[in-house]
Amino acid sequence: MSLPVPCPNNLAEKVVAWQKTSGRHHLPWQNTQDPYRVWLSEIMLQQTQVATVLGYYERFLERFPTVKDLAAAEQDEVMPYWAGLGYYARARNLHRCAREVMEQWGGSFPRQAVDLATLPGIGRSTACAIAAFCFGERSPIMDGNVKRVFTRYFGVYGPTQKKAVENALWAQAEEVVALAPADLNMATYTQGLMDLGSQCCTRSKPTCSLCPLQSDCYAHTHQAQSELPSPKERLRQDERYAHVLILELNGQVLLEQRPDKGIWGGLLTLPQYDDAMSLQTAALHWSREEAISLASFQHVFSHFKLHITPWLLQVDEFDLAEPTAGQQWQDHEALEQTALPAPIRKLLLGLYQSKDSEQLILG
Ligand code: SF4
Repeated sequence: MSLPVPCPNNLAEKVVAWQKTSGRHHLPWQNTQDPYRVWLSEIMLQQTQVATVLGYYERFLERFPTVKDLAAAEQDEVMPYWAGLGYYARARNLHRCAREVMEQWGGSFPRQAVDLATLPGIGRSTACAIAAFCFGERSPIMDGNVKRVFTRYFGVYGPTQKKAVENALWAQAEEVVALAPADLNMATYTQGLMDLGSQCCTRSKPTCSLCPLQSDCYAHTHQAQSELPSPKERLRQDERYAHVLILELNGQVLLEQRPDKGIWGGLLTLPQYDDAMSLQTAALHWSREEAISLASFQHVFSHFKLHITPWLLQVDEFDLAEPTAGQQWQDHEALEQTALPAPIRKLLLGLYQSKDSEQLILG
């Protein structure tokens, strides 16, 4: 795949000079070469905005200050520190990765991207970012920000999920580093590309007038900023349905743990059923009364839309059967600190924090 703009040999230096004067310098995961902290930030920042990550990052490090602490914890202890960030496979992999670092690498992260990429949840770009930030390896990254900068700068058309397009971008990123001087500061260069993508080369209305790459940029020269990166190919979005049971007993609600695989894997959530009939049949275990349906709502995942219908059932001690394996009663007050999926958290906190939960009932 030939690109419209040849790779100039001073591109990396321009990025480094700009980062020093105009980039970000005070994010909590900057100014450290501790691979544990850099790795944690890279995983949290995948598909999540910096502003959201900030609070989570600090709380996580307070509870798990080192990779040894994280590896020593059970997965159940880790999930509450991720609840609300979404993409829970990241948290499960984080925990598995910490254990692998302890067991296979003697408690120290490997120094080379090629080895880092063998660890659970660490893809090529994340491995290169850790190697560049912590060990100065000349390994380019290719996250969402960098893809946007490079597709525009080099004039790369085609959806970036396509292998040929992605390969062309990686090849270009490698060439930029290969042409850079031997003393290129890889940490500053890598941070500079991330900062350019988030500060100048933004998704809409990039501020090209402030960009150090403006003079050679294909998109700026051809006024093609809105065409690049090319839009993703639209995937048909599946519609799925779930019915969840809110079983109440004296200020407590019944939660159960999801299996490790699948959506919300490993999180506590409300007992969930595919249809209303299955839910009512299960409810007979607890009471002869029928559960009452509340207002349905939707939650959109990356590749499907989930229609959720909550059902409310209040029981008293006399009706109570023992919770089955994986189930537990949780006080309403403790829900805020519980690792719940975001839409279930919103549902329950909305229900118990509103004075009149009847307002949600459709009847
Ligand atoms: S000149 Fe504009 S479009 Fe080109 S890389 Fe810079 S901000 Fe992005």
